[in-house]
Amino acid sequence: MLKTHSCGELRVKHVGEEVTLAGWVNRRRDMGGVIFIDLRDRDGKTQVVINSGHTPEGFALAEQVRSEYVLQIKGVVSKRPKGLENPNLKTGEIEVLVDEIVILNPSKTPPFRIDRDEAVDESLRLKYRYLDLRRGKMQRNLTIRHKAIKFIRDFLDERGFLEVETPILFKSTPEGARDYLVPSRVHPGKFYALPQSPQQLKQLLMVAGYERYFQIARCFRDEDLRADRQPEFTQLDLEMSFVERDDILDLIEELMIGMVQTASLVPLATEPFPRLSYRDVIERFGTDRPDLRYGMELTEISDIVADSAFRVFAENVAAGNPVKAICAPGCGSYSRKQVNELEAIAKEAGAKGLAWLAIHPETEEIRGPIVKFFKVEQLMAITERLGAGPGDLILISSDTRRVVNEVLGALRDEMARRLGFKDIKELSFCWVVDFPLFEEDMEDGHWAPSHHMFTAPKRADIPLLDTAPGQVLSEQYDLVCNGFEVAGGSIRIWERPLQRKIMELIGFSWEEAEEQFGHMLEAFEYGAPPHGGIAPGIDRLVALMAGEPNIREVMAFPKTAQATDLMSDSPSEVAQKQLDELHIAVVLSEKEE
Ligand code: ASP
Repeated sequence: MLKTHSCGELRVKHVGEEVTLAGWVNRRRDMGGVIFIDLRDRDGKTQVVINSGHTPEGFALAEQVRSEYVLQIKGVVSKRPKGLENPNLKTGEIEVLVDEIVILNPSKTPPFRIDRDEAVDESLRLKYRYLDLRRGKMQRNLTIRHKAIKFIRDFLDERGFLEVETPILFKSTPEGARDYLVPSRVHPGKFYALPQSPQQLKQLLMVAGYERYFQIARCFRDEDLRADRQPEFTQLDLEMSFVERDDILDLIEELMIGMVQTASLVPLATEPFPRLSYRDVIERFGTDRPDLRYGMELTEISDIVADSAFRVFAENVAAGNPVKAICAPGCGSYSRKQVNELEAIAKEAGAKGLAWLAIHPETEEIRGPIVKFFKVEQLMAITERLGAGPGDLILISSDTRRVVNEVLGALRDEMARRLGFKDIKELSFCWVVDFPLFEEDMEDGHWAPSHHMFTAPKRADIPLLDTAPGQVLSEQYDLVCNGFEVAGGSIRIWERPLQRKIMELIGFSWEEAEEQFGHMLEAFEYGAPPHGGIAPGIDRLVALMAGEPNIREVMAFPKTAQATDLMSDSPSEVAQKQLDELHIAVVLSEKEE
């Protein structure tokens, strides 16, 4: 080794010892005759002191040294003089008096400062990711990631799980996104697909009798560009045989709690995690990814406004639709302009307009364009039901149930952002269960699975597949944290006739099914056990635990929102010879050229 200790290791007990350290120059201070260098490695920083009187050659070298030079120093650990200790540094009570210094490698001036976690343009950070990764915050984030994954592996190993790797070159998988395709050289015109998840393979491992499988699996989805999506991401992929829904929920909940306790900077809000039905969360929060760090629940007031003089409400209720509201605390003095902004958000979510009531903070007088249509008792009943008080703002939506929930869900989100509720530093998990098996709307006369086509319907609902498929509930479950879906899974269909029926309902012809999943359908004829699984998203969970808003902050080498790698400049063109070997001709449309 080129060093005897790390730069974060030395303490008062080492005083008097001769040591060798190696690392990067974090900062250098020339005090005339004495040069102080903070030498940094992944473990920490140590102050080293080069005295011109003690080592003239060393001092001459130290004068040339700049930020990010790589040095090796030999010296003696010494206690810092009284009053000069640095309590912010693990090694802050000591320094190393240098006898000898070697410049192992110089460095160009970095494009941004490594020694400070100051804001730097993200594209510059991504282009020089290897320098960005030297910075404290990134090292901290990758350490959290490592600890989380290590915890997962140990936890599952103790419970009899086997980690099995599955292929990256595989066939199209059914998560519903576009596949990344890899052309085959040896089979002209044929392609592999990169797995969107190991879904089929983990189910086949259950048929194979493995019973408890997991994998820290890389998944690939060519989805439309969104700010915080990555074309490749990591899941804890897990599958179990002979289990029921709650077995998986209990196991994953215990795993999550342990992982947060081991690795997270942000504490857990509550345990056990609430288990809420899909219907319930849609009605209360307007989304199936509810952020439970704050209230502002959607509250129905249809009965109160049904016979009001405000015709829009009265007629809507008479038609069987709801009127619902949320209360934004402390926003009662919102200006016209601010309310108009909210109305624009409501319209974007599908509303025709937005009704509101504002309660004056002192006089408690209620204002708003619709106030005149209501009797005092009706206004009192509304404020009471919403728990609204002086200074609060009530936002009201009236439309079909679906639109009302969507609109108020969007407004709840917006108000939470404006009120700072999104900055609450805790992890608020919940389970969402009892999803409908199919999406609400049919596509081209067929039902679309709300999870994927291997998700089982609830046993009791199987007869409804023939009469009212839209009402069938499934064995799907999602884990949600702070408004993000952090895991999704289900108990699977394991009998071939049922699988066939679901495929028919989603408009997958038997021939198509045979072609894409023939191997799976066949496998199900060889004694497939009842099974189910789940796949928590590692990147999002680590980002939440690190208090980072963006998953790029917890990935070593992420791509941009445009799916490019700025460091290696990929994707990039390839040599004609490579294309020829792959039997590929590239034809660009005029726009793309
Ligand atoms: N493969 C699914 C997904 O990635 C999760 C699962 O059903 O286990 O969403």
